[in-house]
Amino acid sequence: MKFCKVLLRESVRQTDKAYTYKIPEALEGNVVAGSYVKVPFGFGNRKQTALVTSVSDDLDSLGFDPSKLKELDSLLDLYPVMTKDQLAIIEPLKSRFLCTSGDVISMMVPSAVGTVAKAKATFVDIKSPETSKEALESGKLRSIAHIHMLEYLLANGATERKKLLSITKASDAQLRGLRDKDLITLTTRMLTREEVEEDESSDAVSSEESFRVVHELNDEQSAAFEEVKASLDKAQVFLLHGITGSGKTEVYLKCAGEVLDRGGCVIYLVPEISLTPQTVNWIRGRFGDLAAVMHSRLSDRQRYDEWDRIRQGQARIVVGPRSSIFAPVENLKLIIIDEEHDSSYKSESFPKFNARDVAILRMKMNSCPLVLGSATPLVSSYYLANKGYYKLLELKKRAARDAVLPEVKIIDMKEQVKEGYGDLLSGPLRVAMAQAFAKSQQVILFLNRRGYSRTLVCSTCGEPVYCPSCSVAMTLHNNRRTAGRLLICHYCGYTIPCEEAVCRECEGTKFKRAGLGTQQLEEILNELYPDKKVLRMDQDTTMLPGAHEQILSEFRSHKADILVGTQMIAKGHDFPSVTVVGVLGADLIAMSSDYKASERGFELITQAAGRAGRGEERGRVFLQSLRPDNPLLMYAAKQDYEEFYKSEIHYREVMQLPPFKAVGEVVISLPDEDMLAQRTMDLGRYLKDFLSYQDPSLGFELFGPVPAPIYELRGRYRNVFMIKSSKKSYLNEVFRQIMEDFDPNLYPLSFDNDAGGS
Ligand code: ADP
Ligand code: ZN
Repeated sequence: MKFCKVLLRESVRQTDKAYTYKIPEALEGNVVAGSYVKVPFGFGNRKQTALVTSVSDDLDSLGFDPSKLKELDSLLDLYPVMTKDQLAIIEPLKSRFLCTSGDVISMMVPSAVGTVAKAKATFVDIKSPETSKEALESGKLRSIAHIHMLEYLLANGATERKKLLSITKASDAQLRGLRDKDLITLTTRMLTREEVEEDESSDAVSSEESFRVVHELNDEQSAAFEEVKASLDKAQVFLLHGITGSGKTEVYLKCAGEVLDRGGCVIYLVPEISLTPQTVNWIRGRFGDLAAVMHSRLSDRQRYDEWDRIRQGQARIVVGPRSSIFAPVENLKLIIIDEEHDSSYKSESFPKFNARDVAILRMKMNSCPLVLGSATPLVSSYYLANKGYYKLLELKKRAARDAVLPEVKIIDMKEQVKEGYGDLLSGPLRVAMAQAFAKSQQVILFLNRRGYSRTLVCSTCGEPVYCPSCSVAMTLHNNRRTAGRLLICHYCGYTIPCEEAVCRECEGTKFKRAGLGTQQLEEILNELYPDKKVLRMDQDTTMLPGAHEQILSEFRSHKADILVGTQMIAKGHDFPSVTVVGVLGADLIAMSSDYKASERGFELITQAAGRAGRGEERGRVFLQSLRPDNPLLMYAAKQDYEEFYKSEIHYREVMQLPPFKAVGEVVISLPDEDMLAQRTMDLGRYLKDFLSYQDPSLGFELFGPVPAPIYELRGRYRNVFMIKSSKKSYLNEVFRQIMEDFDPNLYPLSFDNDAGGS
């Protein structure tokens, strides 16, 4: 007799352990580690989905009477749903992300697995053309639905049931009626890939856009490729630092091609937002059926289908967003993470997994390289590269012949206001725009609205209100309990009433909300350039699925002259006829209560600037700012990542922020403010007490509580504690202890051992 150990997919903390089941004889040989099964569970023997982690016939090791074992019920899928390396990282992932094995299983296995019906369909066909024609001509068919169905089937052949019903507007009962007359047959079978694709709306893209040339690598690119190639059987992280347009993609593809040639498999992660139909198309163009592309427009069934092709080894390169790091790739020989700084690699909801952490685990399990690439790496990645933990690969020049970096100018908006241009469009930018239009070139105006609408800036000099001890902008809060407006530092919790704010730069005492009006900008543009078409891309215009791509493709095909948008347009899109880019409110970008704001600000400006002059002509970029002496802007203007890095890493060290210390967060959220205040206090007392007993070498520091940056969300109020420690794993220990000691029903808590991203 054989038995197996399983983990439940719906496990909660109490049931988050391995359970043992007997394997029925009929299934022996089919049940292996990685199989997906149904098991009877608990007193009621309710059927539960479970993952088999091991199979054995060593009865002695059981330690109890095998006759007491329940038998597993059925096999949900003929093939294993996980590879060996995936099975092996369940445990480390659990402890890393403080979740159950069930949570890990749900992340790795598509929901459609097991509900096989999703990949199956029922087809309707006529018994024979003769009997059908006879029936139609005899006049005995009294139902118009019956007549329509038969006519349709005669003309089109076997048709999927749902499709037939919807086309002929017939009901299920009418279909059964026709079958009872013995005129049609119903057969259920798996769908072919073509049928699935035809069934779901597919990404139709013009062939012109799907075309992408394969380039010979230049010297820098070759050098990078050779380094990776030399380490294809080692667990080694590479950081490919290449300026925008330096041809990083070509390097990834060459490395991927090499691995595929050698029979290995590749996981290639890209930010969700860059998986446009164009990207999907050129990937397919380049790799054909070898590629599985996991973009967000896939239906459950298509997702299952792609996943299945990966599992069967038919697709050997997986391109997709964050979740694709869990793809069931056997023989994984290379992982690529493009735009490694991108915040979409970290999940914002529970479990807050970070694709990079998973990638590192899989890299180690498979002894293969991991290539991280970016023009603006995370400060902590660059730090690790400098320390020698990552191998640094650099691309310093633009790849396309003659393409040069754009010329970047910082514009002092205080001067511009004095000269009568207002605070939205400066004189130099207006001149440049006019020149671009004269040559029928395009312009992008970049306007970041996120993250600073809750900041106050001095009406006189534009400086935000800073926390005196943390050098981060303080955040505006309306406090109902004290009925006043407060400025709060989200680091140390330092709080002042708004009336007491004094500008540290000019000692002014008048403040206004920072922010730029999209509306006003549109009005000015219409007034200044009445014959130019403006496209706007922001949260409001991209609500509908596909709207985002629609706007980009309209702009790319030059149906508009100006594109106005938020950070959504800054990333990775190629617009060859854009020669002028304006970044409006450039100083505001870095203004936020989060220590990563400057990193993100530098990235956004660099990306925005990278949009200019991708064609033949040198691009021009205007950074409009009320604080032109802001060092971040100067580094960004020079496209000097190194200088930026030096100043930022210095700040991080002084402030003891990552990578020098781990920063974690405990958020408590409740629907009632008074209750929240009370329980926050309880938790605070507990934390203070608990942490004071810990060994000083663990480096614990407690900050807060402070109201969350978005204090009120979906009818709940939220407070945050920040905990620093010398290691992430120490934070996890604390979190685990809190989970044991606090009833989650009374204290709804969420934890993050890596607050703020990366
Ligand atoms: P990055 O991702 O580094 O910003 P891309 O990979 O998008 O840069 O490449 C920028 C442009 O340079 C693309 O149009 C690409 O086709 C082109 N390119 C890449 N490598 C080469 C090369 N070796 N020779 C000529 N053009 C190249
Ligand atoms: Zn502070």
